[in-house]
Amino acid sequence: MELGLESKVALVAAASQGIGKAVAGALHSEGARVAICARSEARLQDARRDIEARSGREVLAVCADVSDGGQLQALVEQVQQHWGAIDILVNNAGGPPAGSHEDIADAEWARAFELTVRSAGRLTDRVLPAMKARGWGRIINISSYSVKQPLPGMLLSNSLRLAVLGWAKTLASELAPYGVLVNTVCPGWVATRRVDELLQARAQQQSTTVAALRQKICDGIPVGRLGRTEEIANTVVFLASQAASYITGSAIAVDGGAAQVF
Ligand code: NAD
Repeated sequence: MELGLESKVALVAAASQGIGKAVAGALHSEGARVAICARSEARLQDARRDIEARSGREVLAVCADVSDGGQLQALVEQVQQHWGAIDILVNNAGGPPAGSHEDIADAEWARAFELTVRSAGRLTDRVLPAMKARGWGRIINISSYSVKQPLPGMLLSNSLRLAVLGWAKTLASELAPYGVLVNTVCPGWVATRRVDELLQARAQQQSTTVAALRQKICDGIPVGRLGRTEEIANTVVFLASQAASYITGSAIAVDGGAAQVF
């Protein structure tokens, strides 16, 4: 299959580890010119070196907090100056904190809204003019399978990721005439540092072991295991490619069958 990603410019947000880093690495392997961002300079540079080491080709790493509109403006300007106009934007961010309705104060709602909803909107607004002018673009949001099946104790994620989905679906219709496609990838349980930390915290709370918790999760996944970051990245690469030219406004679960709905 011809993916047509050679020399495309891709910006992957929140990509110093986990899913974002795997997505950046996969796009880079397909020949794209990749830029990544995250908040911590040291971790970001480690990720840049890791990805570059696979091919010897350069990756642009720019420190930025995706919750901060000013930093996003500077990020996009820097990427455009370095690589040229952005063809592919992957909207990723850290997950909003866990908690139920009694735990979450107004200020936390506001912070999570900036992180989960507005980060995607702001970054998209900044890359769109060039995509529209050239009649080609791909916007891909990293979300969660919680948009299909809300997860217990994840009130902010369950709520705000649906806002992103509504935004993305609306945008997909508005942008299709300009050749810009907007899709959302919804991972299930994926083995990342974040999930390790989550399981360690839960194991302590529930006086059990990480291995027992992991097994319980795997028992609820038809494929019988956690996902690998590359499995999420492969889906993003396909959606970013020329081959996905008739897919827009979709929310695609990559969850080993975990969600009990379509
Ligand atoms: P992770 O914690 O391993 O990585 C998150 C990345 O985002 C890191 O590079 C971190 O530095 C960066 N980041 C966090 N906040 C940022 C900010 N404000 N500005 C810039 N960079 C920031 O997470 P992950 O497991 O790779 O998950 C990525 C996304 O996918 C998250 O939103 C997560 O909730 C979601 N998700 C993950 C899973 C999973 O099982 N891993 C499942 C469903 C959804």
